[in-house]
Amino acid sequence: MAPTEPPPGAERFIPDDAHSLDDLKKAAAGCHGCELYADATQVVFGRGDARAKIVMVGEQPGDVEDVKGFPFVGPAGHLLRRAVDAADIDPSWIYLTNAVKHFRFEMRGKRRIHQTPERQHIEACRPWLVSEFALLRPRVVVVLGATAAKAMLGPAFRVTRQRGQVLPWPDAAQHPDDFRVAPIEGGVEVPPAKLVATIHPSAVLRADDQETAFNGLVDDLKVVSAAARR
Ligand code: SF4
Repeated sequence: MAPTEPPPGAERFIPDDAHSLDDLKKAAAGCHGCELYADATQVVFGRGDARAKIVMVGEQPGDVEDVKGFPFVGPAGHLLRRAVDAADIDPSWIYLTNAVKHFRFEMRGKRRIHQTPERQHIEACRPWLVSEFALLRPRVVVVLGATAAKAMLGPAFRVTRQRGQVLPWPDAAQHPDDFRVAPIEGGVEVPPAKLVATIHPSAVLRADDQETAFNGLVDDLKVVSAAARR
């Protein structure tokens, strides 16, 4: 059997003249960079202010997000919001996005069951993430779970081993040159962003001991909260 061709990727769908996150979002609606657009309801682009202090990157939209068109509005998103509140982070500080912008699923009867994106989907969609970061100036980048970690930090990064640690951004990224550091803001020098990895909130929902898993997520987000205030 002939090897499967990798998807073409999102690069050619990104307009050269995109000056805002809204411009990117509009363009992403027409993305055919991989096959995931075909079965999904719509693209689910990032959400939040371009000047957000904290950028959180998850895996992909889920069933509810696919229908509503916004990231983190399903059960995992509600849990994340509770954890953010418990960690004393102002939600208005946060820009939320995903490594893959369309919902990947399989049908079981009438139900759409989440499928983890493959490496080729992460690679195909990565140009959107890079484009978002070109317009964002966070103090902290939060990587939520293994898929986001693969997209941003490379396959060698282990969330379970390095979660809750403040790491240098973009040096911790697999391709740091893709991510701009913005040391000047309104003529004033700002400290470069930091990176903190933690589990995806859906992992808390799947955990046998949800209370312990939730508290672990909150502990990591407290590290984020402190780093964002510096
Ligand atoms: S998942 Fe990403 S690369 Fe694939 S079609 Fe959607 S936006 Fe484009």
